[in-house]
Amino acid sequence: MLPKIKEMLRNIKCYHSALELEAAIERAKANDVSYLEFIHDLAEYEINNRKKTRIKKYQKRANFPAIKTIDEFDFRFQTCITKKEVNEWLTFSWIEQRQNKILMGPPGVGKTHLALATGFSAVHKGYKVKHYTMQNLMDEMIIAEQGGNFHDYLKQLLKNDLIIIDELGYLPLKPIYSNLFFQLVTHCYEYKSIMITSNKLFSEWGTLFGDQTIATAILDRLLHHAEAIILNGESYRLKNVNTQEQRSVPK
Ligand code: ADP
Ligand code: MG
Repeated sequence: MLPKIKEMLRNIKCYHSALELEAAIERAKANDVSYLEFIHDLAEYEINNRKKTRIKKYQKRANFPAIKTIDEFDFRFQTCITKKEVNEWLTFSWIEQRQNKILMGPPGVGKTHLALATGFSAVHKGYKVKHYTMQNLMDEMIIAEQGGNFHDYLKQLLKNDLIIIDELGYLPLKPIYSNLFFQLVTHCYEYKSIMITSNKLFSEWGTLFGDQTIATAILDRLLHHAEAIILNGESYRLKNVNTQEQRSVPK
């Protein structure tokens, strides 16, 4: 009977329940639980474990270079944004409304940290997220373009709810890159959310994209439904270096 039930559970894709069935029956016997409780607990077990598996899978495909959380972010060091504002982001109503977020500022002010933490939290809420550095994104796009697969590539990319593009502005862009980026932004417009971090202000995007017209067209679409945040202040990286230097000064 038991092997047959397990097979049926696998048939209806309840793999976790199939694996757990014997242990669940033993527990139910030991604790004298009712039939109703038993089926409730098994269904709950299946749902919780499916969620865990999905998060693991989404986290892997998001390709985060590091795991950062909002709890680790020191809002006393970075005061251009409040914890309340960031907690509002984490409701993800902006993803539901296909809005974008653009974080700008000099190095070390926490742009990447906030983007990664937002992405991580989005995955945990069940959104499909993909993280890129601008360099990686451009490399992949150009390979797809040269292989004649750019539209398939874009189609895959657009399966995500949120595309994070980190470090826009470090890489000087040739016209072909600007053009591919423009196509990405156009396809995402009012359809998917983009989160960008950049060390360049919007006024510098003309130079960055090597063409004011294309930069304006990109900004026009990106900013139509978007929040742009400027982070300033000292570099958190340098703060740590200074601290270490101070520690190493002999007394
Ligand atoms: P940016 O992308 O603006 O150059 P990062 O987000 O990469 O800066 O920050 C550099 C390092 O400092 C990272 O390890 C990051 O986790 C940390 N960091 C930056 N700002 C904060 C902060 N306010 N609280 C805690 N850690 C921070
Ligand atoms: Mg960064």
